[in-house]
Amino acid sequence: MKILVINAGSSSMKYQLIDMTDESVLAKGNCERIGIDGHFKHSTGDGRVFETDVTMNNHTEAFIQIKNALISDKYGVIKSLDEVSAVGHRIVQGGSLFSESVIVTEDVIKGIESLIPLAPLHNAAHVQGIRACLEVFGDKVPEVVVFDTAFHSTMPEKAFIYPVPYEYYEKYAVRRYGFHGTSHRYVSHRCAELMGRDLKDIKMITCHLGNGSSITAIKDGKVVDTSMGLTPLDGIMMGTRTGSLDPSVVTFIAEQEHLTAEQMDTMLNKKSGFLGISGVSSDDRDVTAAAEAGNARAKLAIDILEYDILKYIGSYTAVLGGVDAIVFTAGIGENQCSHRSSVCHALEFMGVKIDDELNEKMIRGNEGKISAPDSKVDVYVIPTNEELVIARDTMALVTK
Ligand code: ADP
Repeated sequence: MKILVINAGSSSMKYQLIDMTDESVLAKGNCERIGIDGHFKHSTGDGRVFETDVTMNNHTEAFIQIKNALISDKYGVIKSLDEVSAVGHRIVQGGSLFSESVIVTEDVIKGIESLIPLAPLHNAAHVQGIRACLEVFGDKVPEVVVFDTAFHSTMPEKAFIYPVPYEYYEKYAVRRYGFHGTSHRYVSHRCAELMGRDLKDIKMITCHLGNGSSITAIKDGKVVDTSMGLTPLDGIMMGTRTGSLDPSVVTFIAEQEHLTAEQMDTMLNKKSGFLGISGVSSDDRDVTAAAEAGNARAKLAIDILEYDILKYIGSYTAVLGGVDAIVFTAGIGENQCSHRSSVCHALEFMGVKIDDELNEKMIRGNEGKISAPDSKVDVYVIPTNEELVIARDTMALVTK
């Protein structure tokens, strides 16, 4: 069975075609700058690459590029679209409506649309992706939606209700939802597998550290708390996002600078974090290089990131009543061994002991344990694979 995984953004559409017999990636790519001008990149599992500038006015036109590449003589991996058994879509916001993956129906699309106020850019784009897929494939090919928020739906009220007047929760569903759930789900299950234990018996903290970052506490196989909130702005400092702040910082700066809510939103989401502190870049590699070259603000940005990670691991250890395993994943978590080293050495007081050599080797897609045999807490680096989770959920639902 071959499954097409789609991640539709407002101006981009990423895809992977996965062969579920061995879970290999047959082809993957990205349609960028949809509705602006358009750039399309497609590569195959056996190393063929096709890249071109091509106008894509909307998601349907992007989908046609994907379809043509998948079946093309030179760059294709299938003979016809009939070989695609199902399509799985990544959806950012499932709200309180969706606590697990489901097959797309008109009601499901309406449900995702009803959540657009909570995730205006993302959910609107996802619906465009689903509709584009329906136009190109027709309704013969089942579609499944997999939600970033779903894994976090087990959080208790005390973790997800904000201490603002309760009526805002009732009126607008303002609460913590959490994101990157598909990634936290993948790495937590994979970690349990590597430990040879049942996830239900492991107190685990998973750190997804990328451009966007979130940390999750898992107990009895369920999420009990996570750092992102109503939106992906909350929690630890990120590439261009602030993470948690004293809320008065927002109103104070808005008043001083005469900024509208929209301008504040841009400042908090796009101009802060690594970029805002260092003034160098939102990318960890650039900021680390600048810090090593003596840039004090770049060094400060790195210090803040490591401090934030440390604080979350410390507080979630208390929430869990101890911790058996810590997992690092995503671009920074999988590659920046210096941050893992700083954080883990600071956790020695609670029995975390990493093997520095192993830590340095665990980069660029390597998976494994970086803690020493006598560490009280197992520490793992696990490359995430959200597309595979989406493909697995899709297969499970369409073959039910
Ligand atoms: P996104 O949240 O957009 O999926 P990623 O998970 O790819 O982002 O993470 C991007 C971050 O990971 C960047 O800050 C980048 O510097 C860092 N990163 C990615 N690859 C590497 C690498 N090979 N070495 C060091 N850092 C990396």
